[in-house]
Amino acid sequence: MNYDYLIVGAGLYGAVFAHEAALRGKTCFVIDRRDHIAGNIYTEDVNGIHVHRYGAHIFHTSDKEVWDYVNQFADFNNYVNSPVARWKDELYNLPFNMNTFSKMWGIKTPAEAQEIIDKQRDEARQSIAGGDKDYVPKNLEEQALLLAGSDIYEKLIKSYTEKQWGRPCTELPSFIIRRLPFRMIYDNNYFNDRYQGIPIGGYTALIEKLLGDTPVKTGVDFIKAVEDLSVSEFGGCEEQTPVSNGPGWRMGENTFSNVLYTGLIDEFFHFCYGPLEYRSLRFETEEMPDVDNFQGNAVVNYTEKEIPYTRIIEHKWFEFGRNSVTGEPIHGTVVTKEYPRTWARGDEPYYPVNNDKNDALYKKYSELAATRPNVMFGGRLGQYRYLDMDKVVRLALDTAKSQIYS
Ligand code: UDP
Repeated sequence: MNYDYLIVGAGLYGAVFAHEAALRGKTCFVIDRRDHIAGNIYTEDVNGIHVHRYGAHIFHTSDKEVWDYVNQFADFNNYVNSPVARWKDELYNLPFNMNTFSKMWGIKTPAEAQEIIDKQRDEARQSIAGGDKDYVPKNLEEQALLLAGSDIYEKLIKSYTEKQWGRPCTELPSFIIRRLPFRMIYDNNYFNDRYQGIPIGGYTALIEKLLGDTPVKTGVDFIKAVEDLSVSEFGGCEEQTPVSNGPGWRMGENTFSNVLYTGLIDEFFHFCYGPLEYRSLRFETEEMPDVDNFQGNAVVNYTEKEIPYTRIIEHKWFEFGRNSVTGEPIHGTVVTKEYPRTWARGDEPYYPVNNDKNDALYKKYSELAATRPNVMFGGRLGQYRYLDMDKVVRLALDTAKSQIYS
């Protein structure tokens, strides 16, 4: 059979695109290298607890269309992410807000907090920029010191960030820290977005619904299994000579007119310009049948240098400790420690490392990608961007609109 689209990667981007294509009468076939669908938002049921196997995922957005869209496929609970940060024996609320400041400095009012923050910001501005008010921070350390001052930076940002990204804050882009709100009210909601929650029944069920009747084959590696019929030689950075106008791709007996590729863009081109950098994670998950409440919160960040993991997730609290079907309290718990690490070929990539060097390399790959009219690149890995889930849905919907309607 000839399909309109071969979708490489059964994650959120691929599933949204598959759904939109199917709605408009296009045929799709989805493959994924892993042995399951849902990519990094995969959740697995362990004694009634939806375990986020590849790290915590909390859906949040201010894009009403995206929120209404995902709500067609799942009911979302009203979980609000309020992580706690642990620095040595001290516990602080996140994001940086009046609860954090009150604990850090023993103050009560916003005016008292503001005075301390202003003083520390001024000191930072003086030492970094000689007092220049229009100074644009050059890296994450400068951005954090100018935004939050030295106490917050030293206790809650520096080591956590360096553990997560594996390099000094002076070598990281400032936009990473701008993800975090900074508030002068007592409000522990980690996100500023209007809508937030976790799909009841888990993310895997949401992806299953999006995929609907679209055929899916897991455990299939695109690079090994699929042959490009439309050019004389697949892969590499050389100009490729078109050899056919027919279906561009083949896998076994099936052919495909187009490919939507959501894997690593550099791998698609056989790393011909050299590899892009990614951060990977190692997860250590422990089932604790005799413990009902391990840490009292879904997410606890460990912000000190001496502890090698960045956070511990206690999955049951994403669903208020209750079985999402029966509503009964769940006994026992499951916790996951998250250890960041350098990505090497064969590891799961989680975060693109968007520094100048990698962004320039990505640009070369994306220029090469533009010379392949029957291949689209999407998602965090295909577009080499630190995308939240709502942005993934938005981009997949926009791509579907422009590709499928045209
Ligand atoms: N961050 C931090 N301390 C914290 C939590 C986050 O300094 O306790 C910074 C850190 O630089 C991190 C960024 O905020 O890379 C974004 O963190 P978040 O947990 O939102 O990212 P995620 O890994 O969930 O995408």
